[in-house]
Amino acid sequence: MLFEVEELTKKYRQHTAVESISFGIEPGSCVALLGRNGAGKTTTLQMIAGLLEQTSGKVSFMGKPYIDKKHIGFLPQYPQFFSWMTAEQYLHFVGSLSEVKKNVLKEKIAEVLSFTGLEQARKRKISGFSGGMKQRLGLAQALIHNPTLLLLDEPVSALDPEGRREVLQLLFQLKEKMTILFSTHVLHDAEQVCDSVVMLREGSLVWSGSLEQLKSENEELTFFIEADSSLEPVIQEAKDIVSVHYYEKGKVDVTFVNVKASQQFIQKCVELSVTILQFQRKRDTLEDMYLKVMES
Ligand code: ATP
Repeated sequence: MLFEVEELTKKYRQHTAVESISFGIEPGSCVALLGRNGAGKTTTLQMIAGLLEQTSGKVSFMGKPYIDKKHIGFLPQYPQFFSWMTAEQYLHFVGSLSEVKKNVLKEKIAEVLSFTGLEQARKRKISGFSGGMKQRLGLAQALIHNPTLLLLDEPVSALDPEGRREVLQLLFQLKEKMTILFSTHVLHDAEQVCDSVVMLREGSLVWSGSLEQLKSENEELTFFIEADSSLEPVIQEAKDIVSVHYYEKGKVDVTFVNVKASQQFIQKCVELSVTILQFQRKRDTLEDMYLKVMES
């Protein structure tokens, strides 16, 4: 594991923001931290980033029982900039704070500006940047010191579709180079880029693991079936059906207990002379599975 949290807890007086959560992240993975507003995502990320002290629990990072900030890049939910600075000046300032060596800082600034598509805007004042440009600059500052672990708090939520696409494309490229943990409530975006998820509900961990595992544990065996006549007689006689969703005559979604039940359904159609026009497996989205786990 690149890092692990063990029974991590944050209490504010009477209120417990994060309660005894434990999970680990493999090197090279891209993990989405999911949960409703107030679930504890920001608090968790801030504790991992070493910006907020936990009330109890442990964080181990690269085999050591503490967090070495020089290996972590952090993009806060609401990044603050000195808007009178240019992008280049700001990155110079942040790079110096992160102790990037003077002889490589200039090169590093050029590299992150190019990566985030801000080369042309490098001499422009941040006050004139769009939301998407500011988010990309936020990403550039998080990358300036070559972190091993990138922590991003809601990197796409506040952006318009174009800005979201730009940032997601950058994440696609970054996940080849470093480990990423990002919080979001835009599940469609999370599904495109992450390979594992951590789900929080009211400060507690509900589920963590790979997307594959989430699918195998929660994905239902649902088929969209279209026939040349009503499927009702088949549905009445078929066995091991979990649920049926009717669209119009001859069109239904049927959820089966297992694959065998779906094959028996086809056989029943043949027996009752109902011709199948379509028999298509429906894939659950991350949102479907998230709702199932959260509501269980
Ligand atoms: P969002 O998606 O809205 O950003 P979140 O999942 O990031 O939510 P947190 O910001 O981590 O949630 O907050 C978790 C809980 O802790 C919330 O109930 C919040 O009100 C509470 N909380 C956060 N910071 C403080 C604080 N400084 N003092 C008291 N309570 C706090």
